[in-house]
Amino acid sequence: MLKKNEIYRSEITDLTSEGNGVCHIDGIAVFVPNTAVGDIADVKIVKVLKNYCFGIIDKLIQPSADRTENDCPVYSKCGGCLFRHISYEAECRTKASIVENAFRRIGGLSPVFEEFCGAENTSCYRNKAQYPLAEIDGKAVCGFFAPRSHRLIPVTDCKLQPVIFSEILQFVLEYINEKKISVYSETSNTGIIRHIYLREGAHSKEIMLCIVARKDISRQLSALCGLITQKFDTIKSIVLNINPDRTNVILGKKCITLWGNDTISDTMCGNKVDISPLSFYQVNTIQAERLYRKALEYAQPDINDTIADLYCGAGTIGLSMADKAKKIVGVEIIPEAIENAKSNAEKNEIYNTEFYCGDAGEIFGKLRSEGCSPDIIVVDPPRKGCSDDTLRLIAESDCKKVVMISCNPSTAARDAKILSDYGFDVEKVSGFDLFPRTGHVECVVLLTKLQQYKREKLEK
Ligand code: SAH
Repeated sequence: MLKKNEIYRSEITDLTSEGNGVCHIDGIAVFVPNTAVGDIADVKIVKVLKNYCFGIIDKLIQPSADRTENDCPVYSKCGGCLFRHISYEAECRTKASIVENAFRRIGGLSPVFEEFCGAENTSCYRNKAQYPLAEIDGKAVCGFFAPRSHRLIPVTDCKLQPVIFSEILQFVLEYINEKKISVYSETSNTGIIRHIYLREGAHSKEIMLCIVARKDISRQLSALCGLITQKFDTIKSIVLNINPDRTNVILGKKCITLWGNDTISDTMCGNKVDISPLSFYQVNTIQAERLYRKALEYAQPDINDTIADLYCGAGTIGLSMADKAKKIVGVEIIPEAIENAKSNAEKNEIYNTEFYCGDAGEIFGKLRSEGCSPDIIVVDPPRKGCSDDTLRLIAESDCKKVVMISCNPSTAARDAKILSDYGFDVEKVSGFDLFPRTGHVECVVLLTKLQQYKREKLEK
């Protein structure tokens, strides 16, 4: 039994997706932040729980070869990055094993694990940033929240964002301070501006500036539009998003275009795409394109195949497969994203697509009852994974393959296991790093339907 405040010498053997190192002392797993695999350290136990403990480094005896100099002044405070203290090679190794462990331990599965796809760019790769604002010493500042809190850490030059974001932010903050527009406070539910939200097309370099406010402040912002677009000529759209609710959800439902277009344009796998403030768009375009190419390689569609693209966002995955298949049927819950998907298809003169707005399971069930029978189903759900109903409908369908894309290996492994119980073979898994230096990792999974599939499970 380990005791609080006792110190034990141990070696870190693993890293978790929360960024904690793991060592084993007397057979008990101890989680130690800010460590690297291979560190030998005196670990002080700070919290004893039933099956595991938390510790901190009391003294680093021998640092791991994976360690590297951290180059960000707010790394220990901001909570955005988890792996700036180890080399990128070590980070990729860690992420590959997070994916493998999820499938082996949660799924009890042993697919082929393909080589992990790390990124070429580990900084300035994000095409989107949402900065909360706070008032500090009477001035509006922006930054990021400290982990598990709503305490703002001022940052304008995050290393994961394009450099131009920081210049635009400074400009907007100066304007807000000069015009004395108040900043929203969550605690008192007073003040006006909540977030500054920026998006940049990775290929087009077009920028959208979106200001999230509690009420319509179009008039107070009209001078900003002229000034900022004179200075930054790649800004193509300025939008005011109104979020009047007392909530920690960033965006409200209403958008008012203050200047330029309602959307910005970019290309994804060679297709033109329009992106509106409310629609989901992969934040790392270059890595997402590689991920989509892997999804296409796994899907290997026939020109007579119908592909269902469930949780399709602005339709980017389906559109990247459209010239290889007979028809693409996309389903997505956000109406603006479906509007984008339809206009994206039209812009690219892709006419073999249909897009439906609603819950993936509900719409897919309805489409099936109307005779839609996809040969291949691509799913790309949010972090919580697919609903039981959706998985069941997929299993009941006559599809020959499922390509599962996921930003959460744990729920992907759980869902792959459910489909494997329904008679799918979980063939291959590929890990992708879309979020270098952070704890997030993406994966794509190929599941093929076995000939002899277990009907009894479905009939229950
Ligand atoms: N495939 C897209 C989007 C993936 S993100 C891309 O690569 O860009 C997951 C998407 O699922 C988001 O667009 C989200 O709005 C959507 N979504 C969330 N819950 C959903 C549900 N119950 N039914 C359908 N779509 C849903």
